[in-house]
Amino acid sequence: MNTLALNIFELIDRLEGSRSLEHSEFVRLLSDDISPDEALYLQHRARFITDRIFGRNVRIRGLIEITNVCRNDCLYCGLRKSNSSLRRYTLTVGEILSCCRLGYEAGFRTFVLQGGENPGLTADRIVETVSAIHKEFADCAITLSLGEWSDNDLELFREAGAARYLLRHETINSAHYSRLHPSEMSRDNRLRCLWTLKRLGYQTGTGIMVGSPFQTVSNIAEDLLFMKELQPEMIGIGPFIPHSATPFAGYNAGNLDLTLRLISILRLMFPGANIPATTALHTLHPQGRDRGLLAGANVVMPNLSPTGIRKQYSLYDNKKSFGAESAEGLAKLASQLEKINLFITTERGDYKNV
Ligand code: SF4
Repeated sequence: MNTLALNIFELIDRLEGSRSLEHSEFVRLLSDDISPDEALYLQHRARFITDRIFGRNVRIRGLIEITNVCRNDCLYCGLRKSNSSLRRYTLTVGEILSCCRLGYEAGFRTFVLQGGENPGLTADRIVETVSAIHKEFADCAITLSLGEWSDNDLELFREAGAARYLLRHETINSAHYSRLHPSEMSRDNRLRCLWTLKRLGYQTGTGIMVGSPFQTVSNIAEDLLFMKELQPEMIGIGPFIPHSATPFAGYNAGNLDLTLRLISILRLMFPGANIPATTALHTLHPQGRDRGLLAGANVVMPNLSPTGIRKQYSLYDNKKSFGAESAEGLAKLASQLEKINLFITTERGDYKNV
């Protein structure tokens, strides 16, 4: 098929109507030669759908980075075990609960527990943590983002009260996956976890980095088709940003416009999904957060982690924070968002099946 012959406006309308396209059509939509008018049309359609489903509301999630210890060595990640420059930490259950209390007071009704795959953080300890949060904050959603676990462990976390799980697949293409990860890691195990999460009834999140080394537009189109199959309830899309202590230190960061375009495409594909304007987007560009929201994102995830450890959770260089961890911080975020006619909502904000 001559992909250049495909009319972009028509593709956008078809995507909105049928919620998917062929691989070659996605490639066309992601190509460099899309015009500013076409890109703007895509963004307007995505924001129109976002407004129709969520209004002008932005959902907030309180991010708690519970450990920066990781047994893995992903080539793009600053937490990789080979990075000896980090002071490693693991928060206690009591410290995590303190973060939740601070967040609850400020209005947060979702807590996202994120961390590396820490061999010292056993399934029992996670069950204990989730149970304690669930007991004290019964009206809040608990989201886990703790990497790959056995089916049995994922079930235990669900029974303890975790409602959502974020696990980016990063790339569905096996050859690309093996260039981003060490040989001990397997794409298929990641997929096994994702399908298990769906089966267990988690609101399941996946996603990719845009512009990761060796990624092609064709790879991204494959990722979109995979997501169409998985039907995630949450989608995390952020630009790749290099970390100086990784083998990818010398690679360029991902492209802002392409990341925004993908957010818009995903909004048209998954109208009711929770899609954050990620910290990486905010780090890449001073207006990244706002532009992500205007492109169809509906979530921001301010950091509730203790301030003393934040620098140690170094996924990539110069990682920014939304600075809204306190009630005052949240008020500041609210006034920034009001400038683009968006408003923070403190609802729990579950997936909307539309
Ligand atoms: S991406 Fe996740 S699993 Fe890989 S090194 Fe970083 S924290 Fe560990």
